[in-house]
Amino acid sequence: MVNHTSSTKTISLDKYGIKNAKVNYQLSSDELHAETLAKGQGKESSTGTLAVNTGEFTGRSPKDRFIVKDAVTEDRVWWGNINIPFDSDKFEALYDKVVDYLSEKELYVRDSYACADDNYRLNIRVINEYPWSNMFAHNMFLRPTEAELENFEPEWTIVNAPGFMANPEEDGTRQHNFAILDFTRKIALIGGTGYTGEIKKGIFSALNFILPVFKETLPMHCSANVGKDGDTAIFFGLSGTGKTTLSTDANRSLIGDDEHGWTKENTVFNFEGGCYAKVINLSQEQEPEIYGAIKKGAILENVIMDGNGVVDYSDTSITQNTRVSYPIYHIDNIKEPSIGKNPKNIFFLTADAFGVLPPISKLTPSQAAYHFISGYTAKVAGTEAGVVEPVPSFSACFGAPFMPLHPTKYADMLSKKMKDAGVNVWLVNTGWTGGPYGVGTRMKLKYTRAMINAALNGDLGSYNYEDYHIHSVFGVAQPRQCHGVPTEVLSPRATWKDDEAYYTMAFKLSNAFRKNFEQFEKNASEEIRRGGPQRYAF
Ligand code: ATP
Ligand code: MN
Repeated sequence: MVNHTSSTKTISLDKYGIKNAKVNYQLSSDELHAETLAKGQGKESSTGTLAVNTGEFTGRSPKDRFIVKDAVTEDRVWWGNINIPFDSDKFEALYDKVVDYLSEKELYVRDSYACADDNYRLNIRVINEYPWSNMFAHNMFLRPTEAELENFEPEWTIVNAPGFMANPEEDGTRQHNFAILDFTRKIALIGGTGYTGEIKKGIFSALNFILPVFKETLPMHCSANVGKDGDTAIFFGLSGTGKTTLSTDANRSLIGDDEHGWTKENTVFNFEGGCYAKVINLSQEQEPEIYGAIKKGAILENVIMDGNGVVDYSDTSITQNTRVSYPIYHIDNIKEPSIGKNPKNIFFLTADAFGVLPPISKLTPSQAAYHFISGYTAKVAGTEAGVVEPVPSFSACFGAPFMPLHPTKYADMLSKKMKDAGVNVWLVNTGWTGGPYGVGTRMKLKYTRAMINAALNGDLGSYNYEDYHIHSVFGVAQPRQCHGVPTEVLSPRATWKDDEAYYTMAFKLSNAFRKNFEQFEKNASEEIRRGGPQRYAF
């Protein structure tokens, strides 16, 4: 599986319009690591891991993500400020500029693919200006064998030129950076940003269109793992809610940490070949598997190291979004190939900074559909007075920035699949307890893990309604007991020790849910609308 040797084959980029480039085709991970160091574009940490700075951008730039509006996309894409249209002629002109920029340069090219299930495989050629971006593609996409490379036919091409700066007036971009998908030419064109996440999320966005439209498959922004009995669990959630953290579990085999498809054959497959974990405050004790994966072959992004290459994971002076990418085989317990059966349990992860949602609750099918469409998590924002307060953040399907179709398309597919599979759906608050952000504390990871384990083992009240308390505001079923978790923690109201303050905050959140749902009201059935909170403040 692990391919450490580089290919002797080389390829020409003439057909892409890239002339006289020095092409480094299919370099091994070790070679790309060495190239990066030799070019002064990275350093080595004390564990032998490559560490790079991604430059101006240390996160994705959703406002600079465009889709070319053409015959394929025009009537299908849900256009708006998430899916921003781009003119096809403008794309052609910008593409020509980018390939001109890349001509004569030393470049890194690799053939790879997405989708672990052969029936859905999407071959990808990645053309990078920088060696470490190419190593990221090695880590994150699936790796063809030598034999498969012989007759490799790329379907999609990623052209990645972080050093190319667009001229908005001439090129039709918003500013100097851009990530543009063209479904007719099958190109992801990325420029002006070195943030590697744009590379993987570009292909994710493409698959979020291709799979439901052409392959009857539901694409999902979720992680997935499988237990000893072959039971699959999937974890949806927005950034920072715990998809990577909670799916990486020594007792369960990892299928993948971020992007999956649920097929008509009732299987779940990973799109990717690696993981991309946040490393802010990472500790060996709390997250031993991820910690151990940070070795040669992995790439650390935007972390701070001392003179001996020891990383200080608490240092956020470059960004809060410090990351590591590693090929999935850096984790010991993985499912090979990365495919599971129909999920038995689905978890919706939310980092509720209001601190009012129960740490775990069971959802009815209507509540599951409602919460999927809502896609709630919270952010914290500072105010002038230095007070930080929670801000609700809703993102349909727990991944709106990557979803080219209308959210109800995905929601309808999920609802049907959940019903057919008879799956249990759980809402898990990995955020705050005992009060909102600033007053309460983040839910202990060991409690969240214990609750998830109890749900997976079927221990959470054996699914009888007497074993649950129905939350008076949100209507969800909150278990009364859970092995390994203090009973008090299970009731958010009890952790606050101030009922009035608790309900005031709970109503703030239920009102935010209602306001956000207004945009879906007319498309949502009575059944889905019933899944919302039960009480609001007036
Ligand atoms: P992304 O979509 O950006 O990859 P993600 O959903 O994979 O995000 P993680 O990378 O798992 O999110 O980040 C969760 C972060 O929250 C980690 O840094 C983790 O250590 C921290 N954390 C703290 N408490 C908890 C908890 N109770 N459950 C889950 N994560 C927690
Ligand atoms: Mn993740």
